[in-house]
Amino acid sequence: MLENPILSSGHPQTDTYEPVVISDCTNVKCNEEIYSREGIEHNGEFYCSTHCLGEHLINEGQAIDMSNQ
Ligand SMILES: [Zn+2]
Repeated sequence: MLENPILSSGHPQTDTYEPVVISDCTNVKCNEEIYSREGIEHNGEFYCSTHCLGEHLINEGQAIDMSNQ
């Protein structure tokens, strides 16, 4: 019987990763904790979702919500 090289080499465990909080969401209406490997970084600031990124840009006047005119 042939030895299976994949099984015998021993896979590194991938489920032992522990997420680390890297920032709070920049959107003040949200303030959700953001873990590494998730969220969105824009100009050095972190957001938990595209929704919060958009809301923050609108609040800052950097984007305009055309549906709210
Ligand atoms: Zn958020």
